[in-house]
Amino acid sequence: MRRKLLALSALLAITAAACGGDDSAGSSEDTAPGAATTAAGTETSEAGATTTAEAAAATIEIPAGSSVEAIKNEGKLVIGVKYDVPLFGLKNPTNNEIEGFDVEIGKLIAGNIFGEGAEDKVEFVEAVSKNREPFIQDGTVDLVISTYTINDTRKEVVDFAGPYYIAGQDILVKKDNTAIKGVDDLNGKKVCSVTGSTSLKNVQEKAPQADVSTVFDKYSLCVEALNDGRVEAVTTDDIILLGFVAEDPDNLKVVGNPFTAEPYGIGLEKGDQALRDFVNDSLEQAYADGSWAEAFESTVGASGVDTPTPPPVDRY
Ligand code: GLU
Repeated sequence: MRRKLLALSALLAITAAACGGDDSAGSSEDTAPGAATTAAGTETSEAGATTTAEAAAATIEIPAGSSVEAIKNEGKLVIGVKYDVPLFGLKNPTNNEIEGFDVEIGKLIAGNIFGEGAEDKVEFVEAVSKNREPFIQDGTVDLVISTYTINDTRKEVVDFAGPYYIAGQDILVKKDNTAIKGVDDLNGKKVCSVTGSTSLKNVQEKAPQADVSTVFDKYSLCVEALNDGRVEAVTTDDIILLGFVAEDPDNLKVVGNPFTAEPYGIGLEKGDQALRDFVNDSLEQAYADGSWAEAFESTVGASGVDTPTPPPVDRY
């Protein structure tokens, strides 16, 4: 909604500029530097002397009158991420920085929109699992990059770019647990998962006798429940659970028997084709120029996970 208004005002600004014979379309104070960078990037690229970031900024077109242009003109891209998921979206308590692979993907997209100075124009807000669709629908965020599985139910109310990573649902237990080896073993056990996640739905379907009465808004609270014995297992995506193990390897382990495929997408307003195309273009560019792999290695890879081949983008 917010974006529609912004896009409309961007269109009006262009029309006004065109009518006034002013061909510098950037009408707001915030716009000019970004626009100039993109144009300069194009020229430099032709001369064959750009950095990767400049090349990315130069090659992805921002359609006139689109929400992407509105975001650029406003000078602000708002992205919902996790704050408690190590490796993907974590608010570092020592410096309050938001860190992780999802955050890096967000920065890559911001770089393509704004060019130089993009770091100051991207704003991260916490989006727990159950808030993701509402945050997109009510305009709290422009994008959700939050370990967010693409599926048909969610596609009824939001759209997705990507996928940019494929996870699989698995199980976290205490290191000395030998009873739980797969999803079937969760029947009759106390298991924790998170409201609004595919993880909760999947475990209810695949282990109908599991006691999943312990649910929270955040996975970190499930891990606390596991640590103090309120539950015997936590279930969600393997890569989320591996992050918690990396923080406490002497005490926790992932069972290592994934039972679903969870393609991670970037959620955005349903029907915003320009934004979806732009984000998909950004992902493909990041696959091609190595920045996706670099983002993975510096975040998830740091805990010893090998960098996979990125999944093909699905322009459904
Ligand atoms: N990827 C799953 C989902 O989108 C589980 C992880 C999460 O809740 O963020 O529901």
